[in-house]
Amino acid sequence: MAECIFCQIAEHKIHANIVLEDDEFMAFFDANPVTRGHTLVIPKKHVKDFADLTTQDAEFIKRYLVFVEKVRQELLKRFKPDRGIRVSFNTEKLILVQHLHAHLIPVY
Ligand SMILES: [Zn+2]
Repeated sequence: MAECIFCQIAEHKIHANIVLEDDEFMAFFDANPVTRGHTLVIPKKHVKDFADLTTQDAEFIKRYLVFVEKVRQELLKRFKPDRGIRVSFNTEKLILVQHLHAHLIPVY
């Protein structure tokens, strides 16, 4: 999706401060962080929302969550939040960018 900002970040056409990246997923710092280290984790392929995922996507979801966990470990190491890291997904009208993303928010 050419006009999707997260697709453009995934393709390195728009700059983001990348935390971790592999062939399929990318983690980068939120441009408007709620706390220090607030990170977004996206699949590089355009997936709109949970609503687009089906049981056929089970393997993809598994790989995605394994990557989310890798990023969570990285944030724990880098920011040492004393309370932990909140992992969340917005849905429906809470979604600001229509490209699947997890919020990883260190809580101090
Ligand atoms: Zn996209």
